[in-house]
Amino acid sequence: MDRVERRNWLAAEFEARYGAQPTLWARAPGRVDLMGSHTDYNEGWILTMTIDRDAWIAARPRSDEVVQIHSLNLGESGRFVLGAIEHSRQTPWLDYVSGVAKVLQEAGFTLCGFDGVLHTTVPLGGGLSSSAALEMATARLLERMCRLPLDSVTLARLAQRAENEFVGVGCGILDQYTSAVGRAGCALLLDARQLSSRDVPISSGLQVMVCDTRAQRTLSGTEYAERRAQCEEGVRRIQRMAAGVSALRDVGVEAFDTYAAGLPPVIARRCRFIVEENARALAMETALRQGDCARLGQLWAASYAGACELYELCVPAMAQMMAAMRAAPGFIAGRQAGAGFGGCMVALVHPAESALFAQHVQQQYHQSSGLHPAIYAVSPAPGANLLDPHDVFPVDS
Ligand code: ADP
Ligand code: MG
Repeated sequence: MDRVERRNWLAAEFEARYGAQPTLWARAPGRVDLMGSHTDYNEGWILTMTIDRDAWIAARPRSDEVVQIHSLNLGESGRFVLGAIEHSRQTPWLDYVSGVAKVLQEAGFTLCGFDGVLHTTVPLGGGLSSSAALEMATARLLERMCRLPLDSVTLARLAQRAENEFVGVGCGILDQYTSAVGRAGCALLLDARQLSSRDVPISSGLQVMVCDTRAQRTLSGTEYAERRAQCEEGVRRIQRMAAGVSALRDVGVEAFDTYAAGLPPVIARRCRFIVEENARALAMETALRQGDCARLGQLWAASYAGACELYELCVPAMAQMMAAMRAAPGFIAGRQAGAGFGGCMVALVHPAESALFAQHVQQQYHQSSGLHPAIYAVSPAPGANLLDPHDVFPVDS
């Protein structure tokens, strides 16, 4: 489905439900990380990129406090009243929308209700951040519809607060920041402490490929919180050995070697991964700018090895995917994406061989795992914004 077909479909669904045409269209992309697993909640560095898969909300403001929204992905509708936002037991996904409205109101802004139709091309629950895409599309929509004086970074912080405090997922700022601030053609080197970033162009000699294992994610909900707690314990212990450390971000690779012996082995492994991953995120910027494929391959191999051996976030399907990616034509580099424990992986490949790469990975991974993966190219897209009608309805149509 191309963009025009997608827009026509949403408009038709909107009209069928609400008897009118939508007047405002907001969109926000998913994202993939090119380095920096779990570094965001350690106030560190992440090389991150928006993808050309996004959430769209077609909407029409209402004159009352009611929000009605239908998800075309799930075939479900939800409804809430702005003045009385509670968790939705029947449609838990609605919490991502109502949560954003709730934090905006708590921040002192007056909102109006709307009717909406939602559709995303970001896979749900695969680690490419369909949740942040939904939150940022909602935030951008409300910002424009209600004329809120809020910049992208502030919107991202509020969306993160909605996910942390209302949805109840303890995510860092990475997903929302990338979805809000990303730019076409560029990755971002995000400084999660300063909440600032610099653009890092992706060379035309590199194609980013998402390799979705389609394995049932084994993340029970406790691993993420456990890893976070282990990093925090590491920081508390290092603080007894060194002044001026408030997060793992403050510890360099060499300095860490002197502290490691004073840490319990599991804590030392977790912290070492973060410290090294931060250094790799900074090194990635240089390697990307120089288009140094050998260096990119080394950095990603080290990231994947650390993720498996030190942070222990790998599952068998990820190892099977990694083997398939490494053996495929055009392969330059491969590693985990998102929080790990299944979900998507990511590869850098030579563009001319991307179709062959996809075909080869598809076959080999299916042979080794019995699962049907999804392998596709992604390119960095603009961050959350309003859809330009001319962009999807050609002017002469
Ligand atoms: P990820 O962000 O990696 O995709 P999450 O578990 O954080 O995974 O978020 C996925 C959840 O986001 C879904 O289970 C659903 O509740 C919500 N969601 C995202 N997009 C949509 C959509 N288009 N329709 C309904 N729910 C959505
Ligand atoms: Mg998410």
